[in-house]
Amino acid sequence: MLRPDARDRIDTLLVHGGRHPTEFGGVVNTPVVRASTVLYPDLEAYEASRPTKFGALRYGRYGTQTAFALAEALAALDGGEGAVLYPSGLAAIAGVLRALLRPGDHMLMVDTVYEPARKFCTEALSRDGISTTFYDPALTDGIESLIRPETRVAYCESPGSLTFEVQDIPRIGEVCRRYGIPVVVDNTWATPYFFKPLRHGADIAIQAATKYVVGHSDAMLGVAVARAEHLDLLRASAAEHGVLAGPDECWLGLRGLRSLGARLRQHEASTRIVVEALRRHAAVRSILYPACETNPSHALWRRDFEGASGLFGIELATRDPAAVRAFVNALRLFGIGSSWGGYESLILPAKPVRTASTPGVSGALVRIHVGLEDPQDLLADLELGFERSGMLGP
Ligand SMILES: *Cc1c(COP(=O)(O)O)cnc(C)c1O
Repeated sequence: MLRPDARDRIDTLLVHGGRHPTEFGGVVNTPVVRASTVLYPDLEAYEASRPTKFGALRYGRYGTQTAFALAEALAALDGGEGAVLYPSGLAAIAGVLRALLRPGDHMLMVDTVYEPARKFCTEALSRDGISTTFYDPALTDGIESLIRPETRVAYCESPGSLTFEVQDIPRIGEVCRRYGIPVVVDNTWATPYFFKPLRHGADIAIQAATKYVVGHSDAMLGVAVARAEHLDLLRASAAEHGVLAGPDECWLGLRGLRSLGARLRQHEASTRIVVEALRRHAAVRSILYPACETNPSHALWRRDFEGASGLFGIELATRDPAAVRAFVNALRLFGIGSSWGGYESLILPAKPVRTASTPGVSGALVRIHVGLEDPQDLLADLELGFERSGMLGP
């Protein structure tokens, strides 16, 4: 009765995905099932369990019902064949790239990629003889000229980290499909609630579930949702490396997932209010947020996305690092710290690292996550910060 079907819309999938109450005496939520050893009635049953090591309880390292429930729900949201869970978002990125690439292979990587992922390519993969070409996030058909005979992955992150350029995933997907190159998309910013990479030509959709899926800043989790042709490879590679997401983290992921839609709609509405007020502010040169009508990525965002989340950049009018520091330190409601996607607001100065494109900003950049606080309180806090930083003059 609770099994979702293909006609269900995303809010329904968020509520019902991965839930099997009859398997747990009727309780609404899949419990935390902690296990290393799983016992079998006899040796024959133990041996028979081996071929079904993915998605069936066999040994704790392959996950328990808690992980299966989360993977099932996340795969349904993205419209993929299945999901592989990882202990963090970065582990998902590293796991997918390790599964797809061998020494001598080459990868195309967007220049606006999350910086630790850039480092994984330029250091860990490079050490193992896997080369990376970084490309401009604005590239569409032009990506074809970067493809080499040994290119095995085209990696996108849309919108990109810190500067929020939206990529033309359908066009990139079209070009890469002709060469048999899988397209991997880091979809952490939008989540499948606002953008579904697999429906727009990608083959594997990654999320740092640490962010909006968990949604409460208290667990690390990553996921890769894949089309059928890549799923076994990802699963086998994770199993080979002994990589898993623990049951407590998976439970927190499931807990977060149930309210993902309600939270994201609120993040979106509040961000709209904050962005609209800041757009005309004397201390602000520009807003880096694709949902803004004046943003260069707005048309692409409008074409492909269903909404916008709560993370955006502000290009300040000043370039004075002391003023930026004073502004950030003066805020009362915006926490200072890594990550985002939780219920609370955050702020950090941002310094984009680019090697194949330019960020197109001249003022100092700060990154803001708009949480679930009242947006008017957030605006009042930002206003006070601008005043105290001296950015508005004496
Ligand atoms: C945070 C983040 C990651 C990494 O996620 P962790 O769970 O912190 O490892 C990956 N991609 C993007 C876009 C992120 O913002």
